[in-house]
Order: sequence, then structure tokens, then C-alpha cells
Amino acid sequence: ERLEEDLNITRPAPDGQTIRPKILDEYVGQTKIKENLRVFLEATKNRNESLDHCLFYGPPGLGKTTLASIIANELGVNIKATSGPVIEKPGDLAAVLTNLSEGDVLFIDEIHRLHSSVEEILYPAMEDFQLDIIIGQGPAARTIKIDLENFTLIGATTRMGLLTSPLRDRFGMIFRLEFYQDDELREIIKRASKIMEIEVEEDAAAEIARRCRGTPRVAHRLLRRIRDFADVYNNGIVEKGIAKHGLDRLEIDAMGLDTSDRRYLKSIIEKYEGGPVGVDTIAATLSEEKDTIEDVIEPFLIYCGFIKKTPRGRVAAIKAYEHLNIKRRETQVT
Ligand code: ADP
Repeated sequence: ERLEEDLNITRPAPDGQTIRPKILDEYVGQTKIKENLRVFLEATKNRNESLDHCLFYGPPGLGKTTLASIIANELGVNIKATSGPVIEKPGDLAAVLTNLSEGDVLFIDEIHRLHSSVEEILYPAMEDFQLDIIIGQGPAARTIKIDLENFTLIGATTRMGLLTSPLRDRFGMIFRLEFYQDDELREIIKRASKIMEIEVEEDAAAEIARRCRGTPRVAHRLLRRIRDFADVYNNGIVEKGIAKHGLDRLEIDAMGLDTSDRRYLKSIIEKYEGGPVGVDTIAATLSEEKDTIEDVIEPFLIYCGFIKKTPRGRVAAIKAYEHLNIKRRETQVT
């Protein structure tokens, strides 16, 4: 999915615009984050310093990577992007760090998945722009210090709770990304359709906006799929009827829930009497990765008020029964 998206990123529209916004002004929504970033970016530039390290967290597809690349672009510096699980050894990270130039941005996606041995290298690098490398073993071991250029680390994570506190404490700014509102998503869809040269009518954009799980990445993906239906059935014009038809055929319901969301809710309701049920049990029942459930499925369902997390497990809310049209048994209390 990411690959498909990245292909689109490298295929700019005739006027050079890309689907992934390049400057803060093109980035729709997340107003509070944008306003604060504007101030921090300007102050940093005026003082000719490197920007303090920032951490973005929130569900996938909300624009964390995009913000990181916008920051580098606005600062006029290079960005080097990597991800937590990719950096296997302390030496891998040391190589990346020593290659950075003054002011560069190092973006680490899924930063909660860094190995602890790698993470320890990061502490002095973030704090003092220094690498402490241990050479040799046993009594002969010694530490050498290598100075690094001043750089900005931008971390992204879907799971703030899994970040160790020493790492979290070393970020000067921490931003939480929120699900997008319908009007913001409409704007994102209209912007993308212009760049991709798709004719999308206003109420069709609204329909997709309502049904894309509050997530720009999903909005873009749905737009591409609906364009396929429009190409085949409607001379390429995306109007409300064709949008509805496409979304129904993709099995995306009126609230934007897809088959995995509904399977998840149904399993809590039908197999576990509405909960509470632990996430491990749900994962086993659905044969889904626990991480996928916690990173992708649950945040939106919680946001919509379909489920609640309790100390004893997940509980389906009344709204979930109503949405799926399932009658609740009288004895159940939620
Ligand atoms: P994340 O890193 O949070 O998983 P990305 O930054 O990769 O998400 O964004 C996913 C897709 O959504 C990208 O194609 C990006 O262009 C688009 N996108 C994200 N946020 C916005 C936004 N605020 N405005 C316009 N497009 C956005």
C-alpha cells in the first residue's frame, strides 16, 4: 500500500505538485500543530540554529511522514528517512548519524521499535550531538567520542505508550495527530483529484470524505479505486452515485467501516457477548496480528465510540450494536 502511494508521490502533476504536500500551507488540517510549528520553524531559522527534536504520534496514514518532510523542506535542509526495525545494530545508526550534515533532519518512523542497544546510542546523539562508541571488550574496552553535526531528529510512532521514557524525554516537541474532520478530508480529496486530474463532483468528494476513516491515506486510496469505477462505468467522472456504488462494492459502510472493522466488532459482540475481552483473544479469534488491531483497527473505532478500552479488555458500546443492527441482550451493561 505504501509502495503504491510512493509511486504516486514521485509522479508529479503537470505543474509539479505532488500528492504529498511539500509545504506547510499545502498541509490540510491539524491546525494547532501547524500553527505551533510555524512559530518554531521561524524562530529556529531566525536564530540560525537546528530545530529541536520532534516526535509525532497517532494512527497510521494521518500525515506524520508528510510533516517530517515538510519541516525539512521549510528549513531548506536534507532529510534522511529510516525506520526503527530497519536499524539492527548500533553501528548502523552510527553510520547514519555520522553522515548527516549541519541542520539535517533524520526521520525515524516506528521509533518505538528501535532495539534498546540502538536506542542507547541515540541518547547522547540527541542531547549533546555526540556518539559514544565502545571499542574492544572486557578490561581493554574503551569509549571514544565522536562529534556529530547538529541535526534534528524527527520520530514518528503509532504507539506512544511503547516509547521508553528516556527517549520520550529527549524530544523538545511532542505532537499528537488527530483524525481529520469531514470538511478537511473533502479538501484533501479535492486537492488530490486536481493533482491526479480526476473530475470529482462536490457531493462525491463529500461522500468519500465521510467514509474514509478520518484518514488522508485512506481518502487517497478510495479516490483511486473510485476513479476506476468511474472510468469503467461513467466516462471517468466521479459523481455521487458512482462514489456510492464504488464504496458499496468495496464493502465500506456508511460510517466508513470496512470488513475488518466489522469482523472485529462482530467478534466482540457475537463471540464474547460484547466483552470485556482481551486484545490477544480477539487477535487469535480473527487470526489478525495484534499490532494491526491496536494500531489500525481500534483507534478509529474508539474515536467513533464503537468500543471502549477497559482494564479488563475491550467492550462493545451500544453504538456498535445499533450500527451493526444487532439486538443487545437485556442483561448486558455497557
Ligand atoms: P503517516 O506517516 O502518519 O503514516 P503519511 O504522512 O505517510 O502518514 O500520509 C499518508 C498519505 O496521506 C500521504 O499520501 C500524504 O500525502 C497524505 N496526507 C497526510 N496528511 C495530509 C494532509 N494534512 N493534507 C494532505 N494530504 C495528507
